[in-house]
Amino acid sequence: MSNILVVLESRDGSLRSASLEAVGAARLIAEVSGASVLALATETCELDAGVLGAAGADLVLMAKTSGHSAEGAAATVARVAKEHQASVVLLAATVRGRDLTGRIAALLETGFAADCTALDAAAMTFTRPILGGKAFTTVKINGPVAVASLRANFFAAAGREANAEVQEVVAEAGLSRVTAINAQSGGRPDVSEATRVISGGRGMGDAANWNLLEAVADAIPGCALGASRAVVDSGWRPHSEQVGQTGKTVAPELYIAAGISGAIQHLAGMNCSKVIVAINKDADAPIFKHATYGIVGDALEVLPALAAELQKLNL
Ligand SMILES: Cc1cc2nc3c(=O)[nH]c(=O)nc-3n(C[C@H](O)[C@H](O)[C@H](O)COP(=O)(O)OP(=O)(O)OC[C@H]3O[C@@H](n4cnc5c(N)ncnc54)[C@H](O)[C@@H]3O)c2cc1C
Repeated sequence: MSNILVVLESRDGSLRSASLEAVGAARLIAEVSGASVLALATETCELDAGVLGAAGADLVLMAKTSGHSAEGAAATVARVAKEHQASVVLLAATVRGRDLTGRIAALLETGFAADCTALDAAAMTFTRPILGGKAFTTVKINGPVAVASLRANFFAAAGREANAEVQEVVAEAGLSRVTAINAQSGGRPDVSEATRVISGGRGMGDAANWNLLEAVADAIPGCALGASRAVVDSGWRPHSEQVGQTGKTVAPELYIAAGISGAIQHLAGMNCSKVIVAINKDADAPIFKHATYGIVGDALEVLPALAAELQKLNL
């Protein structure tokens, strides 16, 4: 019987939450097809068989190698996929996942669907946004293996009572190896993975006013900071925080946009957010057409009031 292979991604030796969501998505397919879910870490990292089993994995495979190599990881995944007759290979649509997806599909001589937001386990089709999120397309992969990357926060770990077995596998060598990653997020969650995000735009007026956004973020557990491109281009915030077409794609439960107009290129990166709160002093700002809740007012006055109320809730 064919298997479903999930590529696990780690950062600083710890598993990324988006990988657990991919394991949960694989479990959805396994429930329909009766296949087993194999979770493969392409480099040595801390793996909790209980957590992975609960998320949906039946077997956990860990390639023993330190440091990431894109070619090496892709070759390891392709070999393991063939050895275990995988009919589906899933990855998180992170920066690294995007890098690996095409490489794996090429090695397996098949097609792939990138950045998927839904799947139909019975039809084995994937849904992905196109045209900057204005439309969705359904993709069926006709090759021997369906390779797909899944957008963070659209799938969930299975949450079942099960343990997974852990086995070691040989890692393939790569031509290049990542030796260091210099994180710039200042201890907050990565904006593309966080379930709560507060972003600032040019309407914040100055980089010094970011303490107002930070105060709101501090009052909301797990809240990441984001920014519009205008802010990043002005040098107020690092590019790692940019949300949008040329930045990161986010889909949190809560997205607060302060002083952001709602340009199409910004919307492309955040309009799949579940609840959108817009703060803008212009009642006609385009962002209000996409917002669940809108506050017309000066962000420099609204944000301190919002932070004060949130602090009272002691979330
Ligand atoms: C190829 C391409 C790719 C792009 N990629 C991206 C991308 O990835 N991400 C992205 O964000 N943009 C992207 N852009 C840029 C995009 O078109 C917009 O220029 C940008 O999003 C505008 O940022 P902004 O909303 O912060 O600024 P503005 O459009 O200048 O809007 C500022 C808003 O703040 C409001 N405001 C002003 N003062 C206050 C106040 N005191 N309180 C409350 N509100 C206030 C104003 O009413 C206004 O609505 C891209 C553009 C191109 C051409």
